[in-house]
Amino acid sequence: MQSNRNKKLFKFILLCTFFLFSCENKNTLHKSKPKEINPGVVITFDDTSINEWYQADKILHQYSWKATFCVSKINTLNRSEIKKLFDLQKEGHEIAGHGFHHFDAPKFVTKNGINAYIDQEINPMIALMHFYSFKVTSFAYPFGFRNSITDKALLKKFKIIRGTTYGAEDPFFQNCYFNNSKLVFAIGIDTDHPNFSIPYLLKLLDYTKRKHKILILFGHRPVINVTANYQTKMATLQLICNYVKQHNMTFYRLSDLNNLK
Ligand SMILES: [Zn+2]
Repeated sequence: MQSNRNKKLFKFILLCTFFLFSCENKNTLHKSKPKEINPGVVITFDDTSINEWYQADKILHQYSWKATFCVSKINTLNRSEIKKLFDLQKEGHEIAGHGFHHFDAPKFVTKNGINAYIDQEINPMIALMHFYSFKVTSFAYPFGFRNSITDKALLKKFKIIRGTTYGAEDPFFQNCYFNNSKLVFAIGIDTDHPNFSIPYLLKLLDYTKRKHKILILFGHRPVINVTANYQTKMATLQLICNYVKQHNMTFYRLSDLNNLK
């Protein structure tokens, strides 16, 4: 009789302990759950179209947009272009690196080694950008060309590095979203980017909104009327900004992604 009661008591204690532990587990799980992020876009531009970026900002300012300008060949810019870049940074846009010479990184590294790449393509760029007071913490690969050797070396210098991606597959299969990694891939919004189309862009934006993602985009020179390759139509940028505003999404900069990890 006594031992039976003890058994029941023991079972009861065991159950309570189990219950307590499972609550504890739930709490720990809850604590480590990733932060819920507001869906949004990262709009990046590559190369040296400073005057066009500055003009685009005048038009897109009304959307409180934020962009990331990835500058190459900073030593070739004149004083007025540097001043415009500085004004863009002051407005809350990000100025990022895109190479001192705009080298094809894997090709250069195969021929000359990773140390020469960092010495010639990265260090002089960072030094001059710091001299001009640009807070450069992100890097976009010229041509999107990269490999694991260049990634490893660049992640010692930058918080976020950006490659490129192509294709027009279902948005679910695309890799142009932030994926909690310091290496991200952007999809092109220049009119001549392979497979670029407004319906596909809208599909990506819609998926981004529904799945609480951050879509990463890249273009080059914003223009009203497209006359050559590597140009982003202003109408495309207005459509993106309108979409972000209408759906209460967020404009992120490349460096913001590092704080979401
Ligand atoms: Zn480029």
